[in-house]
Amino acid sequence: MTLKLHNTLTKKVEEFNSQEPGKVKLYTCGPTVYDHLTVGNWAAYIYWDTLVRTLKANDYTVDRVMNITDVGHLTSDADEGEDKLEKGARREGKTAWDIAAYYSDQFLEGMNNLNLLAPEHITKATDYIPQQLELIRKLKAKDYTYQIDDGIYYDTSKFPTYADFAGLDLEAQRAGARVTFNSEKRNPSDFALWKFTPAGEKRDMAWPTPADLTDDGSEKPGFPGWHLECSAMAMDILGETLDIHTGGIDHIPVHHTNEIAQSEAVTGKRFSNYWLHNNHLKVDGTKISKSLGNGYTLQDLSERGYSEMDYRMFVLQGHYSNEGNFTFDNLEAAKNRLKNWRSMAALRHQTHDTLIDDGDKLADDKTVQLLASSQAVIEALSNNLDTPAALAIIDDAFSQLEGKAAADIHQHGLVQLLETIDSTLGLNLLGTTPDISDDQKQLILERQQARDGKDWAKSDELRDQLTGIGIGLKDETRGTIWFYI
Ligand SMILES: [Zn+2]
Repeated sequence: MTLKLHNTLTKKVEEFNSQEPGKVKLYTCGPTVYDHLTVGNWAAYIYWDTLVRTLKANDYTVDRVMNITDVGHLTSDADEGEDKLEKGARREGKTAWDIAAYYSDQFLEGMNNLNLLAPEHITKATDYIPQQLELIRKLKAKDYTYQIDDGIYYDTSKFPTYADFAGLDLEAQRAGARVTFNSEKRNPSDFALWKFTPAGEKRDMAWPTPADLTDDGSEKPGFPGWHLECSAMAMDILGETLDIHTGGIDHIPVHHTNEIAQSEAVTGKRFSNYWLHNNHLKVDGTKISKSLGNGYTLQDLSERGYSEMDYRMFVLQGHYSNEGNFTFDNLEAAKNRLKNWRSMAALRHQTHDTLIDDGDKLADDKTVQLLASSQAVIEALSNNLDTPAALAIIDDAFSQLEGKAAADIHQHGLVQLLETIDSTLGLNLLGTTPDISDDQKQLILERQQARDGKDWAKSDELRDQLTGIGIGLKDETRGTIWFYI
């Protein structure tokens, strides 16, 4: 099977080939842990989880690094503003270290609840300070750096292809800067590799700047720039060239452009062969913002009766490269779809595996159809992670089963499809649809007997009893099927 992905580097959907056959070195820009993640943040992690699962379905072994930014990400996303961690610390009356620990734990718990695969390496920026300083040292040796009052900067004019990745118009930046730019920076696009702690300010997170990196040999305290963190952690673990680097489209013009500039200036090699970017998620058609109060968290959804899996289904209904729109109506639709899929998953407990009894039935049309659907799901995902197409294939496969007696549905094909759905889309259908108990089965049987004996009152009473414990019944021509309500 061919795996195709949209590469921001070439702006095309192209065939994916890893450097080493069968192995993928993947880096995902992780969260800045100063607050709860919003549904918008989580969507990205669901998309990239789908990428990992699709790579695995294509028989790749994935070595993935995801960073946790616990220092240096300023409120402007560039070099101005306050460190988000220090700001969070002030808001909650704690230290930046406490804030980082608390929200990192919250993030990991959210990942777990969303059934996101754990990356092989989760790295905290504060654990990689020496590696970050070493990168600055190498950039300094190659004359890419200069020092101004508030930090050590990267001179973007020395990296000739700086504008290429994002198609930046540096001339326009320069023209605009003549009006608004008031800094010692040589070029508006130059960015801080290392910031000095402002005089008179007390930061929780600061490290002495090594004497060989400062112009005057002083060891004044400072902290790393956000962009440098990702380059340092990615290259330290995965090597100088990654296969895939992922992030949000908002990372393209600054964060990822800067990662490329500093990494490639050091190594002289391409930093990543493929770059994948997810589009934004809006809420009720507007941008998510603190002031609008529309930055819903997983906790907010849970309080309104929606599970993490409902949200996961909602995200999978859209394509990662399209702008998404979150509304509670859309979430409700996703919840209903998931409920329907779980009922289909419960069917497997009511079928007979005729394949064991009769090998010839392997060629049975319905089984073949279900097995073909499994394959089609993987093919859809391998076509630039087309989750909406994969979901449509699954809906179609399930609709073929509607109205059929359980005995006519082949367990093998159904189970195979459910396993494919779980392994590629992470919806945990098998894990959330256990068989009902023998006592419950007995109630269904008694109801059937009451129906056969035309004892409608008893039949209704038993049906109500089952409804009360979350089990619904559908009477088909050749028997009754139960499902979860
Ligand atoms: Zn990053």
